Amino acid sequence: MTIQFKSITELRAMLDTKSISASELTQESLQLAQKYKELNCFVTMNEELGAKNANSIDLENKTTSMLSGIPLAQKDLFCTEGLRTTCSSKILSNFIPPYTATAVKKLEDAGSITIGKTNMDEFAMGSSNETSFFGNVHNPWKKGYVPGGSSGGSASAVSAGIVPAATGTDTGGSIRQPAAHCGITGLKPTYGRVSRWGMIAFASSLDQAGPLARTAEDCAILLNEMSGHDSKDTTSLNSSVPDFLENINQPLDGLKIGIIKEFNLSDLDPEVQARFEDSKKTYEKLGAHFVDVSLPNISASVPTYYSIAPAECSSNLSRFDGVRFGYRAEDTDDLNDLYIKSRSEGFGDEVKRRVLIGTYALSAGYYDAYYKKAQQVRRLIKNDFDHAFQSVDVLMTPTSPNTAFKFGSKGAQNPVELYLEDLFTISSNLAGLPAISIPHGQVNSLPVGLQLIGNFLREDQLLNASHIFQQNSDFHLAQPNLEDF
Ligand code: GLN
Repeated sequence: MTIQFKSITELRAMLDTKSISASELTQESLQLAQKYKELNCFVTMNEELGAKNANSIDLENKTTSMLSGIPLAQKDLFCTEGLRTTCSSKILSNFIPPYTATAVKKLEDAGSITIGKTNMDEFAMGSSNETSFFGNVHNPWKKGYVPGGSSGGSASAVSAGIVPAATGTDTGGSIRQPAAHCGITGLKPTYGRVSRWGMIAFASSLDQAGPLARTAEDCAILLNEMSGHDSKDTTSLNSSVPDFLENINQPLDGLKIGIIKEFNLSDLDPEVQARFEDSKKTYEKLGAHFVDVSLPNISASVPTYYSIAPAECSSNLSRFDGVRFGYRAEDTDDLNDLYIKSRSEGFGDEVKRRVLIGTYALSAGYYDAYYKKAQQVRRLIKNDFDHAFQSVDVLMTPTSPNTAFKFGSKGAQNPVELYLEDLFTISSNLAGLPAISIPHGQVNSLPVGLQLIGNFLREDQLLNASHIFQQNSDFHLAQPNLEDF
């Protein structure tokens, strides 16, 4: 029996009819991870504890939640008690956390089985997974091509059918862009919907955890468990969490979808544009109609993000100094030397670049010109969204300007080339809004993603619009041919 490429809903049915046990399912998932080792999706496997937890589910012999007995993979940015958590950085390559992140804990409390920790861009800084200390992750659709980033390992593992779903985090696009490049569905919830406690911080005012899965319905299943207030995270929202499956089947008649005028789609690959036009037609057939909206400040999103995110990262990453945990340099003369050498040897180039940019943006004399200015522009972008959502329900854009690209082909000379990967995704992080990427076809045999951005706390609307699209198309069912791996 193969469980590869099965959705949570399908696996749930197999477990409920006892055609497979949680232990067998976990073993098969671990075997698939081993079989496709060359994809390099995983940094650390969780064989022993995974098997033990699956066995307890079997012994319990009752289904307490949709996720009971379902194998999942966790981005290696979530702290997991007793299980190495590296953030794909040398500086944390030996770190074993004493506690588990709330988002993961909730998924595990619902009975899911963590089979391993997924590879990612170092400290979630990147769009191609090429900044990982543990090496590149392959896109299952094409060997030697990036899976996107920073949640590249999670996206690759789901796309290859090793696990039905995985966790990711999204600071500027890191769930949606890899989901798009790997042909799967990825949701960034509203800022504060999911607790950030136990997530290793990159840019705290932007970071948000969310699911990557084969379908919008499966994303809803994960979001149902991950969401909710957490007293350990002061930015987690104290608002009620709806059942995200409840209204997922609502017809889309009358749904108003906004197209952002300022995004000039005619600059994109004609095939990426064509997929976008096709999906507009699909939504029209499903009863939605389109309205042009203007978000005058949205073109400032990328520079705004690249002032705020590095500023926050320079502050957050100051805790990695080689003293209490993580990598410590040897042969150091004094404390200062220990700091300098541990950080110089422990961080990769992209992380160092961000720390330098951020320190500069926060320094006396430049703070007003960069950090403060960026915060002001951020507010203008948020206001633009508030205004747009007075006349539309959701906004629609491509997820990424292009499809997956070859290892080493972008950003080597000029990092801004890679920063532009997030042209369409960054603004919703700045505004704190939920957004989803769903597969909507292929260009040159590589998947293309469609992004829907929702109003504050309206993940239900995004999941509904995505689910109905998936009920009326089969792009999400396409599977990569893995014979090269
Ligand atoms: N690609 C963006 C960056 O490099 C976003 C990363 C993310 O969302 N974690 O910062």
